[in-house]
Amino acid sequence: MSNKVLIVGGVAGGASAAARLRRNDENAEIIMFEKGEYISFANCGLPYFIGGVIEERESLLVETPEDMRKRFKIDVRVNNEVLLIDRENKELEVKNLKTGEIYRENYDKLILSPGSSPLKPKIPGVDSPNIFTIWNIPDTDAIKSYIESKEIKKATVVGGGFIGLEMAENLNKLGYEVSIIELADQVMDSIDYEMAQILHKNITSNGVNLKLNDGVKEFNYKDGVTEITLNSGDKIDADLIILSVGVKANSKLAEDSGLDINQRGGILVDNTMKTSDQDIYAVGDVVEVEEFVNGGKTMVPLAGPANKQGRIAANNVAGIEDTYKGTQGTSVAKVFDFTVSSTGLNEKKLKKLGEKYKENYLFAYAHNNNHAGYYPGSSKINMKIIFDKYDGRILGVQAVGIDGVEKRVDVIATAMRYGGTIYDLADLELAYAPPYGSAKDPVNMLGFLGENILDGKMDIIQWFELENLNDEEYTIVDVREEEERDLGFVKNSINISVDDLRNNLNKLDKNKTIVLYCATGVRAYVATRILIQNGFAKVKNLLGGFTTYSDVEFDISSSPIVGRSQKSESKKEVVESIDFDNIEKATLNCSGLQCPGPIMKVYQKIKTMNDGEYLEVKASDPGFFADIASWCQRTGNTLIKTEKKNKEFIVLLKKGVEVETEDNVKMQNIVEKTDKSMVVFSGELDKALASFIIANGAAAMGRKVTMFFTFWGLNILRKDEKVNVKKNFMEKMFGAMMPRGSKKLKLSKMNMGGMGLAMMKKIMKEKNVDSLETLIKQAQNNGVRMVACTMSMDVMGIKEEELIDGIEYAGVATFLSSAEKSDASLFI
Ligand code: FAD
Repeated sequence: MSNKVLIVGGVAGGASAAARLRRNDENAEIIMFEKGEYISFANCGLPYFIGGVIEERESLLVETPEDMRKRFKIDVRVNNEVLLIDRENKELEVKNLKTGEIYRENYDKLILSPGSSPLKPKIPGVDSPNIFTIWNIPDTDAIKSYIESKEIKKATVVGGGFIGLEMAENLNKLGYEVSIIELADQVMDSIDYEMAQILHKNITSNGVNLKLNDGVKEFNYKDGVTEITLNSGDKIDADLIILSVGVKANSKLAEDSGLDINQRGGILVDNTMKTSDQDIYAVGDVVEVEEFVNGGKTMVPLAGPANKQGRIAANNVAGIEDTYKGTQGTSVAKVFDFTVSSTGLNEKKLKKLGEKYKENYLFAYAHNNNHAGYYPGSSKINMKIIFDKYDGRILGVQAVGIDGVEKRVDVIATAMRYGGTIYDLADLELAYAPPYGSAKDPVNMLGFLGENILDGKMDIIQWFELENLNDEEYTIVDVREEEERDLGFVKNSINISVDDLRNNLNKLDKNKTIVLYCATGVRAYVATRILIQNGFAKVKNLLGGFTTYSDVEFDISSSPIVGRSQKSESKKEVVESIDFDNIEKATLNCSGLQCPGPIMKVYQKIKTMNDGEYLEVKASDPGFFADIASWCQRTGNTLIKTEKKNKEFIVLLKKGVEVETEDNVKMQNIVEKTDKSMVVFSGELDKALASFIIANGAAAMGRKVTMFFTFWGLNILRKDEKVNVKKNFMEKMFGAMMPRGSKKLKLSKMNMGGMGLAMMKKIMKEKNVDSLETLIKQAQNNGVRMVACTMSMDVMGIKEEELIDGIEYAGVATFLSSAEKSDASLFI
């Protein structure tokens, strides 16, 4: 038993070690040195105190020196900085920061828990008076008093780690225009890029200006405002700047005294938390520890490990053997509307360690509800699980969602502690009732998915592998409902909904690999089983479905952020000119529905409305803002306003593209044009062939195609056989002179009295080029819209009965409206 124990640092690791030591040993003399004024404060709560969520400053002070003295008989010396460790004499040199007195204190055992400090990079202008870091109570007081004494409109956070993001959210709550500058291509380094994209979407949809792949070059402060020049050359003005670019270990004391440390300044300890000196222990942010999953070395600045290590060090000091089993890095943070949580290794880390996808590890995505979908208020948890390719051992998991996120990560973190595999997750029996979970919990679902992959029940493809697919070998099939495609679709995909798949098997080539996807992967799995059991040998399921694909594809530069109206002055004027309280509007409540539920409901509702009418939609899905904005762009409707009230996301839409207001300000939404439209004017075979080949190609790429047949082009659509209809003399003459149907068309050149035509048909047959009749059928099967121009029919005396089935009859307005949505309009 050690008689006199000194502890350096009085917060997470230090205070925890002190309290545990006393519980172990009533007689030890324990002195805890803390250079700051406070001990055991809630540093994790500081951002929320700035944002006003935590109202009382006192609530941050978990324990006072007086409490510790009274309850634990610990000599707490705040405002006392330890200057050096004299290992030879087993003494500390300490400075009383209030009196300036320097004194020595001897020890039998010493526990170091000095933590880490925020990095302050040497950027020109970094010492400007409106630039702060946040780490402790004095930092927080300084920020709070600056905010209260100045008029802050714009704030910038440099660094997109968890503290930076928590600060950004809280500053945003205060009503400031917030920017985040992040050097990497993603925020929240603990998760992978595609998962971080979910956060990017939500951060920007909260009106925050998120700058990725950019760093600060210099700060220029003038009259209360700092102009931030970025590496890209962009400039941002800010009244307040928070630097949150990482931490460095406070290891100077250890280094000066000759204790072993690593290159990053981390103190080396064994599994009892003992340093290279047998009488000195170290814990918390300052130590290098074993990484739990792969046994490597790491430094993880988190409160949980610091507290546990403090307890373990205290046990060992008191003669109770105890060992630390490594750090998994289990973490959780609130980022605007989402909770993000993870444990273990992410893919970035695995790649850095030289591990390879498919060779060493596999991973899967799941997007399941936190609780039964029919119970109000369910929300989606987006998860990525990584596991060993050979034995299914779980290597890490990441989750982003609204509710129940950390519960799932904690369950999996626990399974990992005991060597859990993907199979174990399938077996877990977890608590279930509709308000809390599902009979198949999202954790079980990850297990089932992993099992199917490992056991080869489902061949998979990941979003990043789609890029390398060629049309000759692969067909990508979207098995969602047609309306869901208005939210976007995978490039080059065709649409056959899972319910129609059995009736459309003939459209798919068994020699090709069929890549199936739906919104999340569930319907695609059903489709996979249908195809396999119908003789398709090569079928792959896109993991994570369109949800993961569209997360990856999300481009923050085109994000339709709330308040983005600030960007466009004309839109701002339009929005301001609308009397929101009194306009007549239809309403739709989609709360509780998950994507694509709200969008599908909007789609159904808007179909029943007239152009120019307003629709207000309420939803609880935080992805709704981004989804509805891109849906409006795709479908040619106008998103007027987005508003967040508590947990509700409210949007106001206007049916149609153009918005005209009382003061005649016009606002045009950008309609994303991907359709193809064609005027088929010619009735010549070669031109008809060309038009159908293009139409079928575009349809195969998932594009909506409209072919508008007019004048001679109408002959392509005529039936082969003569149809008895009533015609006047001129109409009969015209009818007799024109070719009746596709088989009678001539070539535009080298027809040579029919010889050229015969030669062409022979060559086409030899070269396996489909006949025009086959191409027309294919186009109809591919959903190509064929419209016969009623005006030309009238002029040429062609009657509806004479044309093939499955075509529409319409005027030029139909063509023009399809051309408006098209990025290519051809005249053939
Ligand atoms: P600390 O708790 O930082 O304590 C070290 C103490 O040692 C300091 O008070 C320092 O003043 C004192 N000290 C240093 N040198 C000397 C010296 N020479 N003499 C005397 N005293 C000295 N972690 C989470 O897990 N979850 C969260 O949500 C979370 N949020 C956070 C939010 C913020 C704003 C911050 C700043 C941190 C957050 N953390 C969070 C991290 C967590 O607080 C730290 O990992 C944890 O406090 C580390 O414990 P420690 O004992 O190593 O160091």
